[in-house]
This record gives sequence, C-alpha cells and structure tokens, in this order.
Amino acid sequence: MARRILISGGAGFVGSHLCERLIGRGDEVVCVDNLSTGRASNLAALTTDPRFSLLRADVCEPLTELGDSRFTAVVHLASPASPPAYLERPLETLDVGSIGTRQLLGIAHRDSARFVLASTSEVYGDPLVHPQTEEYWGNVNPIGERSVYDEAKRFAEALTMGHHRALATEVGIVRIFNTYGPRLQPDDGRAVSNFISQALRDEPLTIYGDGSQTRSFCYVDDLVEGLVRMIDATVTGPINLGNPTEYTLAELAHEVQLAVGVDSGTVHRALPSDDPKLRRPDISRAGELLGWAPQVQLREGLARTVAWLRQQLSADTDRHLH
Ligand code: NAD
Ligand code: UDP
Repeated sequence: MARRILISGGAGFVGSHLCERLIGRGDEVVCVDNLSTGRASNLAALTTDPRFSLLRADVCEPLTELGDSRFTAVVHLASPASPPAYLERPLETLDVGSIGTRQLLGIAHRDSARFVLASTSEVYGDPLVHPQTEEYWGNVNPIGERSVYDEAKRFAEALTMGHHRALATEVGIVRIFNTYGPRLQPDDGRAVSNFISQALRDEPLTIYGDGSQTRSFCYVDDLVEGLVRMIDATVTGPINLGNPTEYTLAELAHEVQLAVGVDSGTVHRALPSDDPKLRRPDISRAGELLGWAPQVQLREGLARTVAWLRQQLSADTDRHLH
C-alpha cells in the first residue's frame, strides 16, 4: 500500500530533509507548517512533485483544509526548536506542544495511523545522569525560561502515551539531540549556526559561559535515517536519536574555525539560564530496536554545513549589492 504521511513542521530544518527523503522513496507527503521559523524555500525541490503538498496552517487551529484525506502516518515536528526562537515565542511553543500534539494525535487515531512525536534531549533538562538513557526522568526547572520548551515536550510525551493507553493509538516517541546540517538558518541562534556564520564573516565566535559545557552533535542525514526507521517501526520508545561523540563548546568553536579555515578568535558571553552543563545520548536502544547508529562524524558534517552556509551568506550579500 502506498504510504501517505502528514508531517507537521515540514518546512523547517529537520522537516524539509525528512520530506525530501520520504518523497525520494515513493511516499506521498502532506506538509503542514505555519512558516513561523521554517521557510517555503526549504521545500523548493519538492514543489513540482505531484506526491507533495504544503498546507500553510497552524497545527493549533482546526485543520479543516485537510478535509477527510487519510494518512498512514503522522509525524509531529512542528515547534520552535532553537533557544532564541522558543524564548521569543513562549506561548506558541507551549501551544504547539499541547494543543498541536492533541490535534495531530486525533488525526492519527481517526485514520488508525502511526503517530511519531519529535521530542528532545531537553526533557532531561540539566541532567544528573550522564550519558542520558531513556530511563532517566530528567532534571527540568518547571518555571525557568526554558521550561516553555522543555515542559511542552514533556507534556507532549505524556499526551502521546495517554492517547496510546486510553485509545490504543499507535505511537512512537523519539528524543532528538542537537542536530546540524544544511538548512540551519544562519541567524537562528544555535551554536553551530552562530559559530559558522561568525567564522565565515571572520568574526570572533561567541562562547556562552566558559565553553566547558558539552553537547553531542548529530548530522541531519543520520537523524533523518533514524526518523524514517521510527516511522516504519512499531516500537513506542522513547528512543534517543543523536550522535554520542561529545564535545565541549570550546572544542566545537575550534572545529568550526578549522572547517572554515579562519582563526578569528573567541569572545565570551553570559551563559543563558538553566543551560545544560553536559549532554550525550546513550543510543543503545536505537541500535537494538531500530538497528540505527549515526555514520557522519563532526568534521565531515561541518564541512557540508559550512559549504551550504557559505553559499547562503554569499547569496544574501549579492542580494544586498544588487
Ligand atoms: P525548525 O524551527 O527549523 O522547524 C520547526 C518547524 O515547525 C518550522 O518550519 C515552523 O515554521 C513549524 N512550526 C512551528 N510552530 C508551528 C505551528 N504552530 N503550526 C505549524 N507549524 C509550526 O526546527 P527543527 O530544528 O527542524 O526542529 C524540528 C523538530 O525537532 C522540533 O519539534 C524540535 O523540537 C525537534 N528537535 C530538534 C532538534 C535540533 O537540534 N534540530 C533537537 C531536538 C528536538
Ligand atoms: N552557545 C554558545 N554560543 C552561541 C550559541 C550557543 O556558546 O553563540 C552554547 C549554549 O549556551 C549551549 C550550547 O552552545 O551551551 C548549545 O546551544 P544551542 O542553542 O545550539 O542548543 P541547546 O543545546 O542549548 O538547545
């Protein structure tokens, strides 16, 4: 049977790669996105494909334009994801994790479709267990600034499991760790995009705090492979998806300068509140249940990302000059 997949947030960084991948293997894809942090241009390669359509809509509103079209899977990626993006949109972030998740679960249940939730390593907060296994319940400040994102995702997980238990909706939860690659917006405020944009402008890289905090960076193609395996599987999870090679932010800054070929120095800025000190996924469960492991290491992934951002920034400069 042909697969027909509804993807919320499909015009975003991760979502656009997922849409391309699913269309590439022959699926039909309907993307619903309000373009708040995503861009229609991310989907430029798909717009003429008859198996692809983009509905510009907010998933917190009734999705009447979808009519009674039926889906085999519903993948919920819609949500601001970079800290500056969700801190600018605190109430929208809470809504899309709660009302948006409820609405998309309803569509999945109606269609007897599989529902896949894009959750996050932020559910572990500032973790007291390292590396993070899925059994760990996390250390989140429920009233801190970041809680609009962290608690929205924790609620989304609770709602997903509640639907599964109460209504037997077929569900899967993935917890995504820091992901990077082409289509990261140069100005979205994440460490990888900031560092590369700064290095390409030969400016000092802004390290928040002393740079000893760690993250583990996953290349987008690897993440998308994990997402596709989760869509096709019947496991509930949650399952961590991320690259377990851990770097301090100071090390990341160095790697970015190597990849760009500059030595523009660093400057230190205040650490945002509740910024997690350590983060690294334990991915044993993804290996056992999905046969998944990341393939692209940081140097290779950064080279590809730098090439893309270099092209974006020079296209922006050309537009300003003409
Ligand atoms: P992104 O901001 O590029 O994409 C999110 C998309 O959702 C955007 O296209 C945006 O316009 C859309 N959106 C937001 N609110 C919406 C709403 N109410 N209705 C319809 N569309 C809406 O972010 P991303 O990095 O691609 O992240 C995608 C998902 O993966 C998010 O759910 C995020 O929480 C999760 N995630 C990402 C990372 C990462 O490192 N990229 C890490 C953990 C979790
Ligand atoms: N960070 C930084 N400089 C920047 C942007 C971010 O040092 O210009 C730090 C941030 O404080 C955090 C880490 O890099 O410790 C990763 O931040 P990002 O926003 O990419 O993702 P997070 O893991 O915080 O969601």
